[in-house]
Amino acid sequence: MNRHTKIIATLGPASQDKATLVALVKAGMNTARLNCSHGNYEQFKGMVDKLREIEGESGKTILTLLDLQGPKIRLGEIAPEGILIKRGELVTFWTGKTVNKGRIPIPYAPLTRILKAGQPLLIEDGLIRTKILSIKGEDIRAKVEVGGLLKRHKGVNIPDSALPSSETLSKKDHADLRMGVLKLKVDAVALSFVEKAEDILRVQKLIARWTKRPVFLVAKIERPKALKNLREIAAAADGLMVARGDLGIEIPGEQVPVEQRRILAMGRELGKPVIVATQVLESMTNSPLPTRAEMSDAATAVFEQADGFMLSNESAVGKYPIKAVQTLARVAESTEAAINDYQWTQPIALTPTKDWMHDHHMAKEAIELANDIGAKALILGTHHGYTARAALRMRPSLPVFIVTPYQETARLLHLHWGVEKILVHKGPLRSDEVKAFLKKTKTVKGTVVYLGLQGENRSLVVMGI
Ligand code: PEP
Repeated sequence: MNRHTKIIATLGPASQDKATLVALVKAGMNTARLNCSHGNYEQFKGMVDKLREIEGESGKTILTLLDLQGPKIRLGEIAPEGILIKRGELVTFWTGKTVNKGRIPIPYAPLTRILKAGQPLLIEDGLIRTKILSIKGEDIRAKVEVGGLLKRHKGVNIPDSALPSSETLSKKDHADLRMGVLKLKVDAVALSFVEKAEDILRVQKLIARWTKRPVFLVAKIERPKALKNLREIAAAADGLMVARGDLGIEIPGEQVPVEQRRILAMGRELGKPVIVATQVLESMTNSPLPTRAEMSDAATAVFEQADGFMLSNESAVGKYPIKAVQTLARVAESTEAAINDYQWTQPIALTPTKDWMHDHHMAKEAIELANDIGAKALILGTHHGYTARAALRMRPSLPVFIVTPYQETARLLHLHWGVEKILVHKGPLRSDEVKAFLKKTKTVKGTVVYLGLQGENRSLVVMGI
């Protein structure tokens, strides 16, 4: 059986040449993330063009995910070698775009108004820590508490401060979104620092003005407000991301695993895929082997039924991008095998919710029936993915094949916890039609259970193929 857990790899300087991209796809990358906080249109265009070529050559579907920067404060332009700051050192930040007379740039004008002496100012998800001493004009004097190498565009966090809110899409996000949707034709977009459902709906409306093509919207959960509004956000978005880097600064780090579990459970309940992100195999940025703890954390996410992982530094700037994807694929495969083989790994049963009552019962019936009669596979007929989602959230252990009339639905279902194959059949989803199609395409042989559409109604049919 194929691996079910999906792997998203962030592309960057370490992973933009064709040979590396081919190797990443071979290693198991299902989706490439284009991170707007770091790359620009020319770089992304080069990557997307190569990925489309690789899709054609390999016959594999590789999705593209455009990650918008969102209202995040970042360091400005710094030379590629970075700036090393050491513990105890006094440094000056300023609100300009580039390094100026030794001052480190944080191009966000309101910063000097927001900050207060005594507050911490953290860089790169809290890896580098400074404490504010004084603010004068556009200069911010600070003492380094934990040193490190400052690199261009790394994130800046000021916990407990009035940070830029998600009220409006910034000029940069708007331009990046337009470029991603219209020029790069990305499959999915991730929205950073989402706080409420309207943040998603606003972007959905904007995209709908530009194109009829469905674009999968992933809400990155990384703020306390998003945790508070989790259900409404999950209902509005197509998928969720546990963005552990920023989340671990905005809430106490030890709360992140708890919230991760809650976000995963919410995704399961609503049938929305959840991606676990950041520091998944962080040590592999510089080392060919992960730590035991990293492997254990990744396996735990698979046990918790995560739909996918996202690699950041590991694949974008690390020394071992291909090995990182291979490692993650192996961890996912061995954990999935354990879930299949051992009763003690089984997740708790799902209960139906009001919105899912009908689909839930049909899907449950179909899976039970298929298991009881020893069917070769479960076939799901779906127009927009609802039937498929209802069944996939139950994590059926037998092979699942999806048949849909729409190419767009087929592509986007690749973001969900795995299926054996997704097939496009440009005809009605009546059981006799689907049966003939499966026969003709030699997809499967033997007895299968089909859950699909018969006119307006769902139907459950046992078919011999
Ligand atoms: C995160 O904060 O964990 C995250 C995925 O977002 P970014 O990489 O954009 O900081």
